[in-house]
Amino acid sequence: MRVAVVGSGFAGSLLARILAVQGHDVALLERGTHPRFAIGESSTPLANLTLERLARRYGLDDCYDLAAHGRWVARFPELRRGLKRGFTFYRHHAGRPFSSNGHRPERLLVAASPNDHVADNHWLRADVDHHFVRAAMAAGVEYRDRVEVTSAMLDDMRVDFVVDASGPGGFMARRLGIPSALHRMHTNAGLLFSHFDGVRLMSEVVPGLPAGPYPDDWAAVHHVIDEGWMYSLRFDHGVTSAGFLLKHRVPGTPDAVWQHLLGRYPTIGVLFGNAKPLMPLAYKARIQHRLTRAAGAGWAMLPHAYAFVDPLFSTGIAWSLRAIERLALCFENRGPSAQDLTRYDALLGAEADQIDALVAGSYIAMARFDLFAAHTMIYFAAVSFAECRQRLVQRDAETNAWSGFLGVGDPQLGGLPRAALRRLRHARTPAGRKEFVEWVTRSIAPRNVCGFANHAAHNLYPVDLDLLVERHAVLGLSRDSLITALPALRGGGWTA
Ligand SMILES: Cc1cc2nc3c(=O)[nH]c(=O)nc-3n(C[C@H](O)[C@H](O)[C@H](O)COP(=O)(O)OP(=O)(O)OC[C@H]3O[C@@H](n4cnc5c(N)ncnc54)[C@H](O)[C@@H]3O)c2cc1C
Repeated sequence: MRVAVVGSGFAGSLLARILAVQGHDVALLERGTHPRFAIGESSTPLANLTLERLARRYGLDDCYDLAAHGRWVARFPELRRGLKRGFTFYRHHAGRPFSSNGHRPERLLVAASPNDHVADNHWLRADVDHHFVRAAMAAGVEYRDRVEVTSAMLDDMRVDFVVDASGPGGFMARRLGIPSALHRMHTNAGLLFSHFDGVRLMSEVVPGLPAGPYPDDWAAVHHVIDEGWMYSLRFDHGVTSAGFLLKHRVPGTPDAVWQHLLGRYPTIGVLFGNAKPLMPLAYKARIQHRLTRAAGAGWAMLPHAYAFVDPLFSTGIAWSLRAIERLALCFENRGPSAQDLTRYDALLGAEADQIDALVAGSYIAMARFDLFAAHTMIYFAAVSFAECRQRLVQRDAETNAWSGFLGVGDPQLGGLPRAALRRLRHARTPAGRKEFVEWVTRSIAPRNVCGFANHAAHNLYPVDLDLLVERHAVLGLSRDSLITALPALRGGGWTA
């Protein structure tokens, strides 16, 4: 087939390359040029799992190595990245330094990997996206940059299928006049962001933090504040990507708002006090976008062209890779059928709703750290169950690729984000909050392979293989078969 992929972020370039490997005739069309700055940097275990599967199925050995920190550093030291051992959360209060020595510090650490070697990465997108474009070209993709893609151009190229990988660029939405569905999204936040030099470590600024399952700062760090939250992603070469997600516009220039927030939250102020932005601070009002359709006859969008909710929980890369896997399987035969595209469209719609419900619930829960920490357990239970099931239980490629993201389609987990959102709106009293925490604990139990929502853990969750073995039945495995399958959790081998 003759396929045009519009947009050469990592997702468009990777899909273009896979289609070329399959023998399709592929053009990759980019409005800008590489290397270029891009946001959306923090990868996750599910993202790496999909990257490894794509690597094995289509012979992309670089993707296999990019799926784990140790392999990445050994093979591609020139591609800048950051070690990500897990998800770190702190609750800050205006005018008060973060305190490590309270009865229960408002701190939550969830390990995503047992050691640095197999850990996830923050992707410095300028380097990584450039790598993916070059790899696509090496695989035979015809790449054109600095092009303004028009309908006439696609007609001239006689393409059979168009993949819209233009992200918020919204290529297909404009071409086909696809209406926005933003009104159905609950999440609503603006973003103030940059990359910085000289951000200090939480472990230096707050002495006496109890030891966690990994060093706090080598993670996707989330600073929860009254106005929303801040992400802070540290790269190995000393640069940090950071931004505030703000529920309401704070008046003032981006620099003034930044200074205001650093002044209001003393510990964040110390962390970023001497940090230098490497490009001007930028503010974007509502960053969410959402369309009414993701696919139709002769075209499909990748997730970031279709919808974006929020950086909370780092869902973007993993979701994009899962969608690439689905489309790539459809192209193994004669290209996506009408039935495939209907299925793809419906699943992306349900997944966008799921991410939105989960994130919108988190924003409500942020008011109280006990609620917030409990609510995050829905995310962690869903992704850890999916990861263990996909890695440890033998399943075919179709089943893995088309399984719903974040519990979509799972009778136990599927309805939880929406139910949580409803409940959180009413959990205002201490009794209501306690009831919510208990409800989360009960609701995730049938999928809770990692022992989340455990009061005795004091919000510190390591990777605990003994516990996983104990919970073998949750995965439908015998104890012995789970133990035999355990090496697959570390990524298995390149040809496994
Ligand atoms: C603030 C923020 C933080 C995020 N943080 C995370 C995170 O921590 N973890 C995570 O997993 N995800 C995160 N995401 C989501 C992540 O950014 C996306 O999932 C990811 O960028 C998707 O990659 P992509 O290749 O599909 O699209 P993009 O990276 O958006 O690339 C689109 C490409 O298309 C090109 N283009 C646009 N319009 C046209 C056109 N008309 N013609 C030709 N080319 C065009 C653009 O120049 C660009 O190169 C974040 C997103 C935001 C906004």
